[in-house]
Amino acid sequence: MTSTPSDPAPTGDFDAVVVGAGFSGLYALYRLRGFGFRTRVFEAANGVGGTWHWNRYPGARSDAPSTDYSYSFDDALQQEWDWSEFYPSQPELLEYLNHVADRFDLRPDIQLETRVTAATFDETTDLWTVTTDTGESVTARFLVLGTGNLSVPRDADFEGLDSFEGELLQTSSWPQTPVDLTGKRVGVIGTGSSGVQVVPSVMDAAAHTKVFQRTPPFAARGANRKITPEERAELRARYPEYRAHARTHAPGIDNNPGDKKTTDVTPEEMQREYEERWAVGGHSVTVAYTDVMVSEEANETLADFLRARIPEVVKDPKTAELLTPRGYPVGARRVVLEIGYYDAFNRDDVELVDVRTTPITRITPKGVLVGDEEHELDALILATGFDAMTGAVLKIDIRGLGGQTIQEKWAAGPVSYLGVSTAGFPNLLFIAGPGSPSVLTNVVVAIEQSTEWITQLMADAVADGVTRIDVDAESERQWVEHVNEVAAATLFMQGDSWYIGANVPGKPRVFMPYAGGVPAYIERTDAVRAEGYPGFLLTKGSDELASTGSAS
Ligand code: NAP
Repeated sequence: MTSTPSDPAPTGDFDAVVVGAGFSGLYALYRLRGFGFRTRVFEAANGVGGTWHWNRYPGARSDAPSTDYSYSFDDALQQEWDWSEFYPSQPELLEYLNHVADRFDLRPDIQLETRVTAATFDETTDLWTVTTDTGESVTARFLVLGTGNLSVPRDADFEGLDSFEGELLQTSSWPQTPVDLTGKRVGVIGTGSSGVQVVPSVMDAAAHTKVFQRTPPFAARGANRKITPEERAELRARYPEYRAHARTHAPGIDNNPGDKKTTDVTPEEMQREYEERWAVGGHSVTVAYTDVMVSEEANETLADFLRARIPEVVKDPKTAELLTPRGYPVGARRVVLEIGYYDAFNRDDVELVDVRTTPITRITPKGVLVGDEEHELDALILATGFDAMTGAVLKIDIRGLGGQTIQEKWAAGPVSYLGVSTAGFPNLLFIAGPGSPSVLTNVVVAIEQSTEWITQLMADAVADGVTRIDVDAESERQWVEHVNEVAAATLFMQGDSWYIGANVPGKPRVFMPYAGGVPAYIERTDAVRAEGYPGFLLTKGSDELASTGSAS
């Protein structure tokens, strides 16, 4: 998309600026290059990898199988990369993403250690001016946010945190230099996916590990193992077919969903089904029946099954009971995969501290004060989660039409059309943004689909001489309504989860992802493309077209 002297509209320094060099940003760069876009990626970290660059805590790994949690866009890439384990570990994922950056020669267009701080849309040129913390300012037609849904840690608002004299660590920004916990008294606050992974991975080195638990999670059994050469060869022979098949499933992965309701089977059949799936491991147990996320009674059958697994592992009944989740539907908060987490509590040197009954009072120079009991620690690990889905977007001072800020636009929660764009912020595109399936799916599938769709929209627009892609406010309202309706028909709203912003004090409670599943979303977005992008306002040069259907 190189400009020629006869181009009517100014083209800016770049055709596109992409923010972030994780799974999203790397693929966006690859795609945009393919369309001939002059692209610059800005990445705050000193390396590529996004989530997998930052979350390098011991035990970090994806809970989607490596053969799904990886790019599908290039068959040679998936044929040549050897995943060693069923669930890929953080070091292997980071190596993989670095390999992708090298293999496709992406690095020349990625500027590391550069955080985008502000972006302002110029209504006279239809260009974004993007400002960074290094003092640079560049202009670009499009601004693509590949900033990640779980990339900004929520503020650890513990009183006295700064006074802690031991080593303070955070799972989501783990040091790049080795951390030696040998012989230390270690505390972990938080028992979501990160906490559940870090505990069994630090306890061997630590002299003593204390786990501060407020809400016990529901857990499924993580069945990690090495991938055998035979398995690898078998998969490689049908990889493209396997990937296409995954996209026909609601979570973008074939985790063997059942097609019956809990009410279609006897209690004995149900128990047998749950047991078989439990034996296989992974999230398959959570999708055994179709009504689990829509009926409280159905949900309770799964909740009961998962609760009953805990005392089978945890020997001390009091600890087992404390670890048992109650009071919210299973799945309304993300189900964690546990690999050795419950078993950790059978050790004398691992202790569960209930901070639900008596909350953490403050952090002291020596440790954690719970009520009036001080737990002395040499190292404290915060696994306290993220300002999910909107955190990274709202950290940037983004100003659209009429100088409106995105913070103003999203004051009552994020709104978008199809999860890709928000009205009044032309040429701003989200990868796997709020209002798209994103975090409810195998996120790599969500990222690939979203990136492919967005970049095609951009390319179609440019080919048609369109300089401004905005969203029709009514179409946005209808999409948001649809997202809310789909969520309201589920039990998702009943968990005080990060899905609805409940983990961040003051954040509007809005269910942010689209719960309709990958196939429905693909069908809808494909139809929008096929019909010439209804719901988008496509403007050529300075002409106000307000068109629905001018792009190819
Ligand atoms: P999280 O699920 O939000 O968990 C945060 C934990 O910190 C919760 O247990 C929370 O308790 C606790 N906490 C926060 N403030 C607290 C306080 N003042 N006192 C006591 N406890 C407090 O965060 P996460 O574990 O980092 O996981 C976030 C998401 O990242 C996951 O759901 C998943 O999508 C993704 N992730 C995935 C993997 C994987 O694939 N295996 C690994 C890591 C992360 P409350 O629940 O009571 O607030």
